[in-house]
Amino acid sequence: MEKYVYLFSEGNKDMRDILGGKGANLAEMVNMGLPVPKGFTITTEACNKYYKDNQTLDKIIEEEINDAIERLEAVTGKKVGGMTNPLLLSVRSGSPISMPGMMDTILNLGLNDDIAEKMAKDKDSIRFIYDSYRRLIMMFADVVRGYSKDEFEKIIADIKEEKNYTSDLDLTAEDMYDIAMESKKVYRKLVKEEFPQNPKIQLMEAVKAVFRSWNTERAKVYRKMNNISETLGTAVNVQEMVYGNLTNDSLTGVVFSRNPSNGEKDLYGEYLEKAQGEDIVSGVRTPKDINDLKKEYPKIYKDLKDISKLLEKHYKDMQDMEFTVEKGKLYMLQTRSGKRTTLAALKIAINMVEEKLIKKEEALMRIEPDKLEEVLHPSFDKEALKKANMIAIGLPASPGASIGQIYFTVEDVINAKKEGKNPILVRVETSPEDIEGMSTAVGILTVRGGMTSHAAVVARAMGKCCVCGCHEVFIDERHKTMICGDNTFEEGTTISLNGTTGRVYEGEVALSESGIDEAFETFMSWAVNTKKIGVMANADTEKDAEVALSFGAEGIGLCRTEHMFFEEDKIFAMRKMIVASNSEEREKALKELLPMQMLDFQNLFRVMNHKKVIIRFLDPPLHEFLPKTKEEITVLAKSLKITDEELTLKIESLKEFNPMMGHRGCRLAITYPEIAVMQTRAIIEAAIRVTKDGCEVYPELMIPLVSDVNEFKYLKDIIKETATDIMDKYKVNIPYEIGTMIEIPRSAVMSDEIAKEAEFFSYGTNDLTQMTYGFSRDDAGTFLNDYYEKGIFKHDLFKTIDTSGVGKLLDVSIKLARKTRPTMQLGICGEHGGDGKSVEFCHKIGLDYVSCSPYRVPIAILAAAQAVIKENN
Ligand code: ADP
Ligand code: MG
Ligand code: MG
Repeated sequence: MEKYVYLFSEGNKDMRDILGGKGANLAEMVNMGLPVPKGFTITTEACNKYYKDNQTLDKIIEEEINDAIERLEAVTGKKVGGMTNPLLLSVRSGSPISMPGMMDTILNLGLNDDIAEKMAKDKDSIRFIYDSYRRLIMMFADVVRGYSKDEFEKIIADIKEEKNYTSDLDLTAEDMYDIAMESKKVYRKLVKEEFPQNPKIQLMEAVKAVFRSWNTERAKVYRKMNNISETLGTAVNVQEMVYGNLTNDSLTGVVFSRNPSNGEKDLYGEYLEKAQGEDIVSGVRTPKDINDLKKEYPKIYKDLKDISKLLEKHYKDMQDMEFTVEKGKLYMLQTRSGKRTTLAALKIAINMVEEKLIKKEEALMRIEPDKLEEVLHPSFDKEALKKANMIAIGLPASPGASIGQIYFTVEDVINAKKEGKNPILVRVETSPEDIEGMSTAVGILTVRGGMTSHAAVVARAMGKCCVCGCHEVFIDERHKTMICGDNTFEEGTTISLNGTTGRVYEGEVALSESGIDEAFETFMSWAVNTKKIGVMANADTEKDAEVALSFGAEGIGLCRTEHMFFEEDKIFAMRKMIVASNSEEREKALKELLPMQMLDFQNLFRVMNHKKVIIRFLDPPLHEFLPKTKEEITVLAKSLKITDEELTLKIESLKEFNPMMGHRGCRLAITYPEIAVMQTRAIIEAAIRVTKDGCEVYPELMIPLVSDVNEFKYLKDIIKETATDIMDKYKVNIPYEIGTMIEIPRSAVMSDEIAKEAEFFSYGTNDLTQMTYGFSRDDAGTFLNDYYEKGIFKHDLFKTIDTSGVGKLLDVSIKLARKTRPTMQLGICGEHGGDGKSVEFCHKIGLDYVSCSPYRVPIAILAAAQAVIKENN
């Protein structure tokens, strides 16, 4: 028979599928002998059954719950609904994959008028009892009946205003009693029935409500954003209450075993005295730093620290824990792997290896390659910061730098984004309803809330820059302005947020290069030693090449020569070459280009000393280089000694219907071999010159967009002849190779033939993807979104490689090529080379290297290392 309810003592950490993460870890902590309030978990299977049974609770499940209650009563010596020693409960959600704050919790369940009155006989308890009771009424209205907490919170706000209180702590016992009674009235008004007095009914209703909270809009959005399956369901944890709002030495808090922002090895968190759970997260009162606990309650601090160490050792990961202290005694209410920034993740992974908690391989698997982007991204320039005008300071909730325009509602943020702005979401505080706005915004600024407030936790998980608890900022929602001191900032004004320091600046502060530190270097060196596939970079200039090398690129896998032509004087010579009406004119223009291109290659070779550089010959459709404005046309016409009209006609004649499939790639050089000759000369002469200076270069000359072996052979002969002439002339031998790009399906399936002539292949997977699917990248943007939205295509084809179709072509091509030329060097150079999943695929199909943009080199390296580790496990 199916079992739907487990006492904590019957579960363990490996049962998260049915007990949910929270339930499984509560059970595990009980097994470890830690102080956890007693309780039981209703399984995710019960949740799924609830939905299958049209949102009703099966009698069998209800009976199992009643049974568990009886057992709980036996071990606690308390009774649900009992007048002398009532058992009060918390009812909490918890799914197999953590969804912090997404689903609901009800505390103090089991209280009613009679029990409250009885307990309040003890004068000292009055305030506490009615505080608990009014919370129950409010949470029940909210979670079970679906009415907002606003009207309930207004009762408190009104009393505070009337009596001139500044804090909730000023509320007296009488006030609390009044608030509870008033809450009952509000409940009756809203729900149109009395607040249920029967604790068993409260419980069953609460359980069902938690099941329903699995399907709230915000939970669905969260799951979609994080790729969490809809079918998991949530478990329900029913647990004896402990009271952080009981006495002066009672408190509640949230603590991380290490700093989730920077990874430092110290407890990190917050607590509130005389408070219950929600108070911390909601930001109603500003919590104290955990370091104050060390001073004020050293014993509790020590207990907490010991438990945190124990849990880390047990789980071998940084823990995010919730705790409550009742009359000086510590209880653990939750533990889970803590969310952290990538910066912290790196530091923690490395420290844990040093502490022998985990192995290097484990550490390498702990970081998702794409997340490295966070640390590679720029921060504010130090000098620029000194000069910048700081307008406010808050808490450094999630590190990074963001520059953008302020907006005060989720809707406005989304609209601003559509208009091409970089919206920063500015709110008093955020709640789970704001998720979409938070993910759309480039940064988040809140007025209230601490380091563990909703905004802070969510932003860190998203890797998004966030400043919290910025009390100096006043938001005028009606006029959509933000006021800091004497300054008023309208909606749409640009500000700069520093999530690393919590500072907010007026206008745009200049950015500096990334914050790469020792931890990053160590981590990457482990990855380099683990991976097998080579990682090269796509770099066109010496600057790109320097960045690429600093990130660990082993060479240049793709140097796009046309990028060298976009500078002012070069493009002019280039234009002359393109519109030339005969080969004489063309050669004249090419002669002008030669020294410029040669110089570029020399600079590049010097940077890449001793390393491989793969240079692609001119590739894009020529019209990309043509003058567009009237002025440009006039200037060019003048220099060519023709009229504007003649030039315009010439430009018209070069237009193509579909340039992506037009006169480009090697087709240009077939028509104008002079181009290939010039580029060969530039490369070989540059190589000769830097060789004389003691550099060692290995140029590889790559012909793009080849579809047939004869096409390749024709150009190869021209290149070879030119290169030989030059080397003979200078009496220097430069070792070089001539290869091709495989980016047309025909060349993929003809790879055995082409490999007879080509010495290496590089898969241009951008073009190969568009050609395989038969759409032009230039046009696909307008309709591909429909495919993604309708779920026809599961992911962006130009980001992650289509392993089944395009991947199959690669696989076929690799096999054919190696049949002809077994040791042939094969790699990819499309955008996919910097995508984690695609790199793993490249490793599997046996490519020699991937090449990607310089900033993605570390991502590719890590993905390559993980591919090896996965293979070995
Ligand atoms: P979430 O998933 O949002 O973290 P939880 O189920 O952990 O929700 O509950 C939120 C808060 O409620 C806890 O951090 C804790 O402060 C309080 N809480 C939960 N269970 C108990 C309990 N048994 N006794 C006292 N407080 C509790
Ligand atoms: Mg929790
Ligand atoms: Mg291409």
